[in-house]
Amino acid sequence: MTTRRKFLQLGTLASLTPLTKAWGLGKSTSQSSKPVVLSTWNFGIAANVEAWKILSTGGRALDAVEAGARVPEGDPKESSVGLGGLPDRDGRVTLDSCIMDEFANCGAVACLEHIVHPVSVARKVMEKTPHVFLVGEGALRFALSQGFKKEKLLTKESEKAWKEWLKTAQYKPVANIENHDTIGIVALDNKQNLSGACTTSGMAYKMQGRVGDSPIIGAALFVDNEIGAATSTGVGEEVIRIVGSHLVVELMRQGNSPQQACEKAVQRIVKNQPVKSKEIQVGFLALNKNGEVGAYALQKGFTYAVYNQEQGNVLLEAKSYY
Ligand code: ASP
Repeated sequence: MTTRRKFLQLGTLASLTPLTKAWGLGKSTSQSSKPVVLSTWNFGIAANVEAWKILSTGGRALDAVEAGARVPEGDPKESSVGLGGLPDRDGRVTLDSCIMDEFANCGAVACLEHIVHPVSVARKVMEKTPHVFLVGEGALRFALSQGFKKEKLLTKESEKAWKEWLKTAQYKPVANIENHDTIGIVALDNKQNLSGACTTSGMAYKMQGRVGDSPIIGAALFVDNEIGAATSTGVGEEVIRIVGSHLVVELMRQGNSPQQACEKAVQRIVKNQPVKSKEIQVGFLALNKNGEVGAYALQKGFTYAVYNQEQGNVLLEAKSYY
């Protein structure tokens, strides 16, 4: 199973991008640019490639973020999203996802089992139902009615990891390793419209029925086409407590840059949880209407990928509070 820790150990990261040169947000990434797409974590690079195919040919940001989010969802080697995602403590892979467009249309699914691409189900919820959010059995029934196929999401590798975990059965998320990752992806298209998506298998070995921030509009994703878009990853409970992505967008509305907005949201978590915040990871990405980007996390190690015309597709590491 590919995990971020192994990935970093292999040194593959360095070969993907000039991480040292691009530490934090250098000038190049904060400059205005459109189209632009940014995604959380190392798998953001591959996600951005798919999103860019749409953005660079004049396509819509909404289509781009969906296409990008589907990449890690469909990759059985990614243990934190979609197929191959680590299960809950009962061995069930339950997926959470949401999507939001430039008109404030949004759709979400949570605790969805057996479907490889929850982001596409979330989009169908947005486009084909009078609702925003479907969960569990109802979400699955809806997905099947829309032609999605029922599949087994627990791979041999994720089952093995779960069985290993059962030996101690301790729920103790560790920052920046595979028991919590999510792809959050936000984009600005040529028409200067914003959209975003977020998708995850959630915290590994969570309680059955647990839902984190990832499918919650306002928590892990928010888009306001007048202002900007934001997304989050990390321990979802802390993001929900501050309605993180909505907070980031509202901070931008008050005149903060995307970078300042991400920093202030992280500081809010530290203020709420001065002790706990030292041990957990939360990261935010933000993009404003001018194509300026921001990224900030509690801990070191939060990587994200930015793709625009000027600099191509680069992997960066966000600055952090600790
Ligand atoms: N935010 C996700 C959750 O809490 C996990 C993650 O981003 O790693 O479910």
